[in-house]
Amino acid sequence: MIAQNLARIKATIPSQVCLVAVSKTKPVIDLEEAYDAGQRHFGENKVQELCDKYEVLPKDICWHLIGHLQTNKVKYIASFVHLIHSVDSLKLLAEIDKQAQKNKRVIDVLLQFHIAQEETKFGLNLFEANELLFSSEFKSFKNIRVVGVMGMASFTEDVSVVHAEFASLKGIFQELKNSFFKDDSSFKEISMGMSGDYELAIEEGSTIVRVGSSIFGGR
Ligand SMILES: *Cc1c(COP(=O)(O)O)cnc(C)c1O
Repeated sequence: MIAQNLARIKATIPSQVCLVAVSKTKPVIDLEEAYDAGQRHFGENKVQELCDKYEVLPKDICWHLIGHLQTNKVKYIASFVHLIHSVDSLKLLAEIDKQAQKNKRVIDVLLQFHIAQEETKFGLNLFEANELLFSSEFKSFKNIRVVGVMGMASFTEDVSVVHAEFASLKGIFQELKNSFFKDDSSFKEISMGMSGDYELAIEEGSTIVRVGSSIFGGR
């Protein structure tokens, strides 16, 4: 079933868009089925669960942390995480830089933006992002690489709202690209789109989609 779901979804995604299979709450056996079908990018939203699955699964998996990350938990994933999608503060960036340095590596991150109508504590706006990027502390970081942006649209049936929110994230990406990352070819990712809206997101320029329930079933 999981293999069929993956095949069906992959058929709707252009080859240059990265499909992250969001496996949160799902047992290891489900991830193995996806792995055996060729899936290599997996996303989790909790550090503990990510580490537990990393321990037992093949080491060529690219692990994406997509949920809110507490500063004191960065150390548990710093040695192996492929991409952290949910960076929304200078304090968190500083800790990721520090832990990456300890592990003698560079960690790729995305800046998370608040694009939905719903109230949430998480995600930057463009003003806050500029403040962060132009700070002297940010310039001092040697072991992080900001490779793009991430956002979540509102949970609504209103397709025009979702379209507009994805377009706003694309606009934010473009603005940062022009102002801060002009000569940085690695700043190229837009992580947007989930089971319910990934096709809309791709229309609006998504380069990474995070799909869970359409692959693994409801949670
Ligand atoms: C759970 C989750 C997803 C996947 O959601 P589905 O609707 O199951 O596809 C994507 N992104 C984030 C940040 C999530 O927490």
